[in-house]
Amino acid sequence: MYLKSLSLRGFKSFADSSTIEFAPGINVVVGPNGSGKSNIVDAISWVLGTQTPKALRSAKMEDVIFAGGQSRGAAKSSKVTIVLDNAERRLSLELAEVAITRHLSRSGESGYELNGRDCRLIDLSELLLDASIGRGQHTIISQGNLDVILDAKASDRRLTIEDASGIAKYRRRQDRTARRLGVVEEESARAQELLRDIN
Ligand code: ATP
Repeated sequence: MYLKSLSLRGFKSFADSSTIEFAPGINVVVGPNGSGKSNIVDAISWVLGTQTPKALRSAKMEDVIFAGGQSRGAAKSSKVTIVLDNAERRLSLELAEVAITRHLSRSGESGYELNGRDCRLIDLSELLLDASIGRGQHTIISQGNLDVILDAKASDRRLTIEDASGIAKYRRRQDRTARRLGVVEEESARAQELLRDIN
C-alpha cells in the first residue's frame, strides 16, 4: 500500500485545486522556505482525521481554510482527498484504490467521504487502524518530532509502538466497550432499584 495522490482545494496555502502524484517508495518534496511543503504533510494528517489544530500548526480548525492572499479573497471551504493504493487489500475493502476525503466549510459544515460516499470518522478510523495507519505519531513524523518519540516516556513510546503494530485498535475497542459496559451497569442498578421500589 502506498499514497498515490493528494488533491487539495482551499487548504492552507493551496487556494486552487492542486493534485500531487506520488510513486511507490521514497518521495521528496523540495521548495523554498514558506512554499507549502509542510502544508502538504498537514493535509495528509488532516484527511486521516487529525482532530487537534495544534498538530496542524493552527490555532483553530478553521485556520486550515485558505485565508486569502494579496490578489484573492479567503476560501469558503477546504477539501482534501488522498488516494491510497490498495492492491494488497491492506485496507479491508475489495477495491484496488481507496479515496478518502475530508471537507470543512467556514459555516461549520464538515465531514468525511470514503470513495465519494459520506462516512463517519469512527468508521474511517477503524478502517485505517486495521491497516496500521492512524492519527498516531508513527504515521507522520513532522519536523522536530523525532526527538519527541526518542525522548518519550516508556509508556508513551509503548502507545506509538502499539499504534504501529496494530494493537491500538484493540485498546480503543476495549476502552469503548468498557464505557458502554459502565453505562449498562448504571442502568441495570437503576432498574433494580425501581424493581425493589415496586416490590
Ligand atoms: P519551511 O521550509 O520554512 O519549513 P514550508 O515549505 O514547509 O516552509 P509551510 O509551512 O508549508 O512552508 O507553508 C507556510 C506558508 O503557508 C506561509 O506562507 C503561510 O502564510 C501559508 N499558510 C498557512 N496557512 C494558511 C492559510 N490558512 N491560508 C493561506 N496561507 C496559509
